[in-house]
Amino acid sequence: MNNFPVVVTRSGSEWRAARNGSSANADLLAFLSGEEEAPAGFRVLRGDRFDVPTQFLERRIEVDQTNDSWIVAGLVIKWITEPLVGPHPAPERIHRLQRAGFAKTPTVRGMVEWQTPDGHWVPVVSAVDLVPEAVDGWEWCVELARMDLRLGANGPPPFASALGALTAEMHLALADSPTGPVADHGDFHVGQVLCTPDGDLFVIDFDGNPTLPPSERAKHRPAAYDVAGMLVSLENVGHVVEHYDPQLDPAAVIAWTEQVHEDFLAAYVATAGGLLDTSLLPALMLDQIHRELTYADTYLPAWRYVPEAALRRRGLL
Ligand code: ADP
Ligand code: MG
Repeated sequence: MNNFPVVVTRSGSEWRAARNGSSANADLLAFLSGEEEAPAGFRVLRGDRFDVPTQFLERRIEVDQTNDSWIVAGLVIKWITEPLVGPHPAPERIHRLQRAGFAKTPTVRGMVEWQTPDGHWVPVVSAVDLVPEAVDGWEWCVELARMDLRLGANGPPPFASALGALTAEMHLALADSPTGPVADHGDFHVGQVLCTPDGDLFVIDFDGNPTLPPSERAKHRPAAYDVAGMLVSLENVGHVVEHYDPQLDPAAVIAWTEQVHEDFLAAYVATAGGLLDTSLLPALMLDQIHRELTYADTYLPAWRYVPEAALRRRGLL
């Protein structure tokens, strides 16, 4: 075989993966498009077949991201840089979505997993189709909200129903039963939803809730967790727009948020109502706001104004 593209090394009690050599992206594509077994300690999941062009460019994705992602030959290659600890939610989520034929996530071409000393399989690198010209919701949704609010548009923002239906379809694919818990996305917010210039939406990043310990993040939970996460992030879009555009009427921002929430929930319930216990939402949303405040306090002070605005709106600050 060519160079196997990934190595796992130990530092102290942590295990981490790294790219192996200077042509790791190309070596990975060669490996995934071939038939070879992975070396001992690793395993490979190959998705739909693909051809590797003889020449291609590599470009690193330079957004605020946890891992190390590259655009290579029409694919997005994501190298995991976090410590490798199991159980990890992504392999099961991706397997369920594939089995259900859920098409609103980029097609997976391959994933390499490594087995931790306690026997769990965790992803070390994955390759999925690039969604061309797509941007995530901190761009598209903020821009749509800004335009709606500046122009004083009346009528429901059209994306919210599509997002609610998409979420419900994802949950049906991830659910144990039509009324049971789901193998939830775990870190569901507008930044995990890509939008193309045509308005098509795709969900990404099934690595689970980064604030939960690994033993918790692979569990199945009520669908209301993801729904609450998305509702908070949709509200946050309004807080962001208001922050950068202080002339906006705060009542108009609240009305926008309420309309978006209502459309999102109506579309969700129409598709997968049996999965959602709406009585959980207010408490789970508050939980999420608190987590964001704690996270911002420690890692992202520039984001603090957002959970603070959410608490202020609820009369809690
Ligand atoms: P991380 O776990 O490091 O946050 P993500 O999987 O969320 O990594 O991806 C980080 C960013 O890369 C996304 O916000 C998005 O901008 C871009 N991205 C990821 N996957 C794709 C894809 N299939 N097509 C286009 N852009 C993508
Ligand atoms: Mg992400």
